[in-house]
Amino acid sequence: MSNEILNSLLKQYEQKKLKAEIDADRKKELLYEHIPELLQIDEQINNLAINQAKKILNSDTTSDVLDFTQQINFLKQKKEAILQQHNLTINSLKPNYECSICNDTGYISNNVFGSKMCNCLRQKLIDISFNKSNISNLSKENFSTFNENLFSDDVDLAKYKMNISPKRNILNIKQKAINFVENFNDTSTKNLLFTGNTGLRQNFYDKLYC
Ligand SMILES: [Zn+2]
Repeated sequence: MSNEILNSLLKQYEQKKLKAEIDADRKKELLYEHIPELLQIDEQINNLAINQAKKILNSDTTSDVLDFTQQINFLKQKKEAILQQHNLTINSLKPNYECSICNDTGYISNNVFGSKMCNCLRQKLIDISFNKSNISNLSKENFSTFNENLFSDDVDLAKYKMNISPKRNILNIKQKAINFVENFNDTSTKNLLFTGNTGLRQNFYDKLYC
């Protein structure tokens, strides 16, 4: 997977995250207009937090963490009660991210030292690889729709350089492919390598190595 694809996806993530946050800000502004009490409470919460931070930075001994926490909790409860009166919740003010796990960043904190890719981004990368591999049409092209009758029953050593018919050959290949899929999680299973002349497509693979 090239960095170009990942960078392009991350740009899309950045845009959708920004859009969710702008939408949330707009919604909040509308709510403030409609319910001015909410604005007052948020301002009180902000002021309390700023004052507390200043006190801590200045090593102010009057700083009382317990008192601060109680005041914040009281204001938050008041805010929730007001929202409830309007059939809203605290989540109504938060950005509506497409992925609530990574908040549309594509990554989640693994520990203090790093982060790991979120499944939503991983899935997008898999989807792109899948489509690029020309195997995206699995609903029509799969083992159950495989038609061995397209292959001849006649052995032609001169033409195919093998002493079995093309049909027998393709059925052997099909069985090996099925075994590969069924034992995919078994680490002792060998990989498959399909080869054939250019332009023959998947129906006419000459050889299968495994
Ligand atoms: Zn995610």
